[in-house]
Amino acid sequence: MIQSIRGFRDILPGESRLWHGIEETARALFADFGFQEIRLPILEKTALFARSIGETTDIVEKEMYTFADRKGDLVTLRPEATASVVRAYMQHKLYAGDPFRKLFTIGPMFRRERPQKGRYRQFYQINAEVFGADSPLIDAQLVFMLTTLFSRLGVSNTSAHINSLGCPVCRPAFKAALTAYAGDVEACLCADCRRRKAENPLRLLDCKVPSCRKAMEKAPDMVTYLCPDCRAHFQRFTAALTALGVPHVRDPRLVRGLDYYTRSTFEIQTRALGAQNAVAGGGRYDGLMKALGGPDIPATGFAVGFDRLVEVVKKDMKTPDPGPEVFIAALGRESQDKALEWICRMNEMGISAEMDFGHRGLKAQMKRADRLKARYTIILGDAELASEKVVLRDMAAAEQETVPFSMVIQTVAERVGRP
Ligand code: ATP
Ligand code: MG
Repeated sequence: MIQSIRGFRDILPGESRLWHGIEETARALFADFGFQEIRLPILEKTALFARSIGETTDIVEKEMYTFADRKGDLVTLRPEATASVVRAYMQHKLYAGDPFRKLFTIGPMFRRERPQKGRYRQFYQINAEVFGADSPLIDAQLVFMLTTLFSRLGVSNTSAHINSLGCPVCRPAFKAALTAYAGDVEACLCADCRRRKAENPLRLLDCKVPSCRKAMEKAPDMVTYLCPDCRAHFQRFTAALTALGVPHVRDPRLVRGLDYYTRSTFEIQTRALGAQNAVAGGGRYDGLMKALGGPDIPATGFAVGFDRLVEVVKKDMKTPDPGPEVFIAALGRESQDKALEWICRMNEMGISAEMDFGHRGLKAQMKRADRLKARYTIILGDAELASEKVVLRDMAAAEQETVPFSMVIQTVAERVGRP
C-alpha cells in the first residue's frame, strides 16, 4: 500500500475542525486590524528565494524542494511566503498611489528539514506583511496583534521575545566582532557553526547545539553596536510595547535565519511545546525590496507556525467535537426515504442532522446515535409510518414528545434554537 512521503502528513477530520476554527479566528483578526488577503502560488522561480532568503542560509543551502520543470527551468516549492508577497507587491505595483499596504496570506510551506515533533516538510503558516512604513510603531502593532490572536484563541503561557538586528550601517561591525569571537571559541563549535562563522556569523547565535549555546554565551550583543538611528528605533519599539501592555523580554540571541531582516525582530514562544517553542516569528526587512530590484520601500511582518499553533490550542482545549443535533434511526426502505427528505431539509436550514444509510437494526442505530453524541433522536419505522407520528427524544434530558410528521422539521428547529 502506498504511504505518504516522510514529513508530509494528512490532517484528519477530527483535527481539521480545529484548523478551521483557528483560521476563522485569524481571518477575523486580520479584518479587525485592517489587513487584506493576498493568495499566492506555491511554486516560484528558484531565483526568488535564492536572492531574498540568502545563499548561505540552511533553507537555501539544503532545505528547498527545487527541481527543473519539463523545459529545464528551475522552480521551487516555496519555503516561506514573504518573498512571494514582496514579489507580488512589486509585480502588480501595489505601491502605486499609496505604498502603505497591510496584507495577509495563509497556506503551506515546504522545507526538507529533519522531520520530528513540531517540524514537518510540508507545514502551514499564517503570514502578515506591512509595506510602506518604517515606523517602529507598526512593528509594535504587529506584536500586539499576535498577542491578541493568542488571547482570542485562549492560549496562555506565551511570551514575546524581541531584539534589533541593526541595519547595513551598523551590522557589519557587529558581524566582524562575532566572527572574531567565534574564532576564539572555535574549538567548542559544531561543524556547521565553524563553516558559517565567516559568511553568516549571526546564525551562530541561534544554533541549537548545546555546546554552541554555551560557547556563545558571552558573545557580543548587537544592541551595543546599534547606530543612533537604529537605537532610537529600537527604543521606540519597546516603549510602544510597554505602553500597549505587551509583556516582552529582550533576547540578544534572537536573530532570524533569513538574510533580509533589519532592525526590529521578534518571536512568540510558548512553554507548551518543548524544544520547538517558537510559534511565530517576524520582524522588519527594509532592504529586501530594493535588493530584489524593486523600489526602496520599507517592510515588516510575521509568520505564525500554524501546525504548532494547533498543538498549543489543542493542549488548552476542553470542548470535544459536537455531535449532530438530531439523529434519525430509520428502519426499512420507506422510512429511509422519508428520513432522507427530513435530514436534507434540516441540513439546508443549518441544522446538523444525520441518519443511518445502511441496513442496521434499531439497537445498532441507537448505539451509533449515542456514539455520535446526538442531541435529539427520532425513531422512524413501520408503526410511525402508519400513524404519521414520531417520538422526538432529548437524549441528555431523557425527555420525549410525540410529533406529527407535518411538524417534525419545525419542532426540531425550535428545539435546537433555529426557528
Ligand atoms: P525554527 O527556529 O523553529 O526552525 P524558523 O526560524 O525556521 O523556526 P520561520 O522561518 O521564522 O521559522 O517561520 C515562522 C514559524 O513557522 C516558526 O516560528 C515555526 O512556528 C513555524 N515553522 C518553521 N519551520 C517549521 C517546520 N518545519 N514545521 C512546522 N512549523 C515550522
Ligand atoms: Mg528553521
